[in-house]
Amino acid sequence: MKKTIYVDSLLVNAEWKTQQVMIVEDGTISDIVDAAKFATGSEMTANSKHLASMVNVDERIEGTVIPGYVDTQVNGGGGVMFNHAPTLESLNIIADAHAQFGTTSLFPTLITDDFATICSAADAISQAIRLNHPSIMGVHFEGPHLSVAKKGVHKAAHIRSISDEELAVYTRKDIGQVIVTVAPENVSPEVVQILVKENVIVALGHSNAPYEVVQQALDAGATGFTHLFNAMSPLTSREPGMVGAALLSDAVCGLIVDHQHLHKKSAELACKVKGEEGIMLVTDAMAHVGGAQDTVAFFDTEITRTGEKLTTPDGTLAGSCLDMHSALRHCVNDLGITLKSASVMASTTASCFTRTQRNIGQLVTGAAANFVVLDEQLHLKQVWQHGNILKRA
Ligand SMILES: [Zn+2]
Repeated sequence: MKKTIYVDSLLVNAEWKTQQVMIVEDGTISDIVDAAKFATGSEMTANSKHLASMVNVDERIEGTVIPGYVDTQVNGGGGVMFNHAPTLESLNIIADAHAQFGTTSLFPTLITDDFATICSAADAISQAIRLNHPSIMGVHFEGPHLSVAKKGVHKAAHIRSISDEELAVYTRKDIGQVIVTVAPENVSPEVVQILVKENVIVALGHSNAPYEVVQQALDAGATGFTHLFNAMSPLTSREPGMVGAALLSDAVCGLIVDHQHLHKKSAELACKVKGEEGIMLVTDAMAHVGGAQDTVAFFDTEITRTGEKLTTPDGTLAGSCLDMHSALRHCVNDLGITLKSASVMASTTASCFTRTQRNIGQLVTGAAANFVVLDEQLHLKQVWQHGNILKRA
């Protein structure tokens, strides 16, 4: 099915374009053309004031259009934690919860757990991929091969070194793009190489490793860092740590801009050093996003939402209740980042990191027609996925 959509303003290849017509066929962008050209069939410029009404299209969008958000770290949503119910039904609930906030592509994230849960999660993802789920692009295994010293809310009893059985799951070819977060002191460069050779994306995090050990993992093919600054060896004068290695490297860093995980100036510093192509906004969302409950069961404890913060009873920060649209707004409103750069960090960088940029994360010919519509105050007005409207404010 073919659909033509007139757009006031949109971001194409990280450049703003105005008065465009997006042509969508079967959910995919087949072209983006100047509205004047579309209306008249020539390069002749029509009177811009009347152009929008002159163009004969199926849909008209007033506002600013940017790519739908791509989130590589989603533990839950809509009241559901992926770890506790690793099923296709959970994936549908989580994806729907995040779509309301503009996330049109995501990598459900399983945190440190036992092997049976890892297998169930992989099977659920496999079902979603087989059904061509519109949002689910793969899976992120965050742990269990981490550092106990930097475990955060991950359960120490489940943290372990990698086994052949686990390697076999991570290298499955039926679960979309796989991301694995490992601590380099627990996973050797040789194993990183094996994973990378099998097309697994290796991110480093939950680690107390010194700089040299982190650098060895980067040399072996790791390309990302999981929630920069949080749960990793800090940058100090005589030991650059994982933070120093991350800032110096070309690897992509996930950043949780909820103003709880990071001081605003730390987030600003990271964006300044790494640039928009080196930072991807992530939510690290728990079940609370898009869910009404403030307290949610979590392994043998619980996670409670107080304001914008999630903690376990002992006060440990436990993921976030951040949504991607709020992350984008925080960047623009509180970190002084342009909407263009914030959009790249919310969509395109993650798609490049996960090698899905031809299909998602940018508005170009051949990519899915996944986008969000913002008003001038950056309110989320509409969410579109595969050329269909999912949410209208
Ligand atoms: Zn984490």
